[in-house]
Amino acid sequence: MGVETGYANAREVLRDVFGYDSFKGFQGEVVEHVVGGGDAVVLMPTGGGKSLCYQLPALLRPGTGVVVSPLIALMQDQVDALAQLGIRAAFLNSTQSWEESQAVERAFVGGELDLLYLAPERLSSQRAKDLLDRGRVALFAIDEAHCVSQWGHDFRPDYLGLSVLAERWPGVPRIALTATATAATHAEIRQRLALEDARDFVASFDRPNIRYRIEPKRSPLAGQLLDFVKGEQAGNCGIVYAATRARTEQLAAMLRANGVDAEPYHAGMDAAARRAAQARFLREPGVVVVATIAFGMGIDKPDVRFVAHVDLPKSVEGYYQETGRAGRDQEPAVAWMAYGLADVVQQRSLIESSTGSPEHKRLLRAHLDAMLALCETVECRRVGLLGYFGEVSQPCGNCDTCLWPPQVVDGTRGAQKLLSTIVRLERERGQRFGAGQVIDILCGRSTAKTRSWDHETLSTWGVGQEYNQAQWRDVVRQLLARGLVSLGDHSTLGLTEASWEVMRGDRQVPLRREVLARSSRSGGGKGGVGPKAAGVVGEPSAGGGRVGGRAVQDSVAVAASGPGARAADALDSADAELFERLRAWRAETAKAAGVPAYVVFHDSVLRAMAARRPATREALFELSGVGRAKLERYGDAVLEVISS
Ligand code: ADP
Ligand code: ZN
Repeated sequence: MGVETGYANAREVLRDVFGYDSFKGFQGEVVEHVVGGGDAVVLMPTGGGKSLCYQLPALLRPGTGVVVSPLIALMQDQVDALAQLGIRAAFLNSTQSWEESQAVERAFVGGELDLLYLAPERLSSQRAKDLLDRGRVALFAIDEAHCVSQWGHDFRPDYLGLSVLAERWPGVPRIALTATATAATHAEIRQRLALEDARDFVASFDRPNIRYRIEPKRSPLAGQLLDFVKGEQAGNCGIVYAATRARTEQLAAMLRANGVDAEPYHAGMDAAARRAAQARFLREPGVVVVATIAFGMGIDKPDVRFVAHVDLPKSVEGYYQETGRAGRDQEPAVAWMAYGLADVVQQRSLIESSTGSPEHKRLLRAHLDAMLALCETVECRRVGLLGYFGEVSQPCGNCDTCLWPPQVVDGTRGAQKLLSTIVRLERERGQRFGAGQVIDILCGRSTAKTRSWDHETLSTWGVGQEYNQAQWRDVVRQLLARGLVSLGDHSTLGLTEASWEVMRGDRQVPLRREVLARSSRSGGGKGGVGPKAAGVVGEPSAGGGRVGGRAVQDSVAVAASGPGARAADALDSADAELFERLRAWRAETAKAAGVPAYVVFHDSVLRAMAARRPATREALFELSGVGRAKLERYGDAVLEVISS
């Protein structure tokens, strides 16, 4: 150990190369284990510091660390960022010319690389295997290891081939890493990657700096999204996830028309346009990308301040992973979602009309139910989210349900009226209708359709005056989410076994009261921090009306927007002025070097520079985030900015 690199130990590398004084979480233990030749499975949330777990051992062990990653588009950025730290890294993937690959192969065989990134499909080629035999491999790191799971949402068949690593290079330590893992995925990673004997390192999946918020969808959605993106998050970098390509383009255009620097991103765009959008997002401040889930895997931009979902994710895993892209820098960030009846209807119908096997459909339903439970909960969102990953926690104080406890009301009477309308249509008329017509009947709202179907003579006509149409939609949504109403062909409503328990009065239906920000197009304040006119009727929610258990039982939905979390600058004005000058210097420097600004220094490092004002190179080197290579490269320039 240390023979080739000249480093005595891990701490020295941590300080000298990475510029950090201490390990984060159990990084130190992983490093020690892998440097000593052990295999490891590392489950850590996004931003937890996974990369260091293999990068540092690769520097300490003789040979090159081989990193298997599906994220071809990001390899160049990763290699550039490592070069900034003075680490010799390269990649081999399909985007390179033959000459480029040749040069990389020669460097690897010649022992000139600390790290080599490879796409998984590469490893299945004989050529790549022969290449690895000709050089010296320090370790294998398998990034995004959940891609090996066939039940997961990111399955990549090429990952299955990675089990050969163990057979072919038995003496080389392997480390699998992911930020997404339920117990089932975790077990699959161990089994399929032949890591049965590996040591597990499982961190808490909590991302305490992310504030989770899920609001009922308002109509029009555009206004609601604009309130959030422009009203609360003005100038911040963020990602908006939408379900379809067309929607990403519409919403991006809408945001642009309203002065937000937004870019669409989806798999239907040509590669150059996608690359350009991604590059702007990574390199320029304050860009908002409106994307399908094709965007974001492996994006490690630290200062993404918000992730917004305007359509319901298909699983909690997906939601957790997408929201996890916010706030990697540990500064306050918001995961915001607008969710409504149409989401539930759409996704339920999609599953039922899909052609998959019954087993596959069951799986999709289970994924959706878990996601809906999270949307409808009246309990702490974080407790539910972490619970899904098998972690027990206490109410967090940093999610909407904790901050603005929803009111729970007894919705049994309303539910009975709704269900009996559905029964009457079916029994008396042999008909099934969608939510719109059923609600019109309950509200006694006469339309051409209610007249032509003669629905105004039904005995439940107009019995539902206690709610308006929007509120009835909330009721239907909650019943659908909890399986108290079923969906048939053409999104028609029907009954389930459980519906009858409600009809008979054997089952109570607590409903989350929608105290909506519906009318609150506040138009107020750019920078818009501060709760908007949400009018949450704050009856303390503790106890009263709740039903047990965190999951599907509980109904909810929400209101209230919270203070937009903005990159906090807790600096006094003189320091803030210096901070801004440092940022300007960084922007110029990054541009000249062709790398994203955060690769030069993170905001947090600039802030520390502004507050502590180091006057010497030694003092500068003491700051967390300043390693040897950056000290050499930027030290003098930074000292000059500080002293001027
Ligand atoms: P992950 O891959 O788990 O999402 P990264 O490896 O990208 O996380 O690290 C997340 C952030 O934490 C990065 O900005 C990184 O520079 C920082 N970081 C990693 N290790 C440390 C450490 N020991 N001390 C301080 N910051 C760290
Ligand atoms: Zn909470």
